[in-house]
Amino acid sequence: MSKILLVEDNPQNMKLATVILRSAGHDVHPAVDAEEAELAMETMMPDLILMDLGLPGKDGYTLTRELKRRPRTAGIPVLAVTSYAMKGDERRALEAGCSGYLSKPINRLELLKVVESLLRSVPAGGMG
Ligand code: MN
Repeated sequence: MSKILLVEDNPQNMKLATVILRSAGHDVHPAVDAEEAELAMETMMPDLILMDLGLPGKDGYTLTRELKRRPRTAGIPVLAVTSYAMKGDERRALEAGCSGYLSKPINRLELLKVVESLLRSVPAGGMG
């Protein structure tokens, strides 16, 4: 079981991703925007962050860049999840510091495959 911070402002996507991740045994912490995500991380350190790039207020690119600048959170892998279908979004997400990229609609098998692969890529005890 891993602790996953799920940053998503769309209630349907939030519900779907939560159900999928919990069905795989993960501990899911929801956050509807950057502010909630940062607040959550004051008291918990996720093993992985699922980041919707399109958020009201501070967007997922900005939040990811900020997390990657802070030593405490820099080592947490961020998986970008976005409905932006425009070319260049994946590159932008990776440049912001995301470790992976998934486009919506969320597909159960695809999501779990990427999540498990990112969780395995984190060295044990390697996160600050
Ligand atoms: Mn969104």
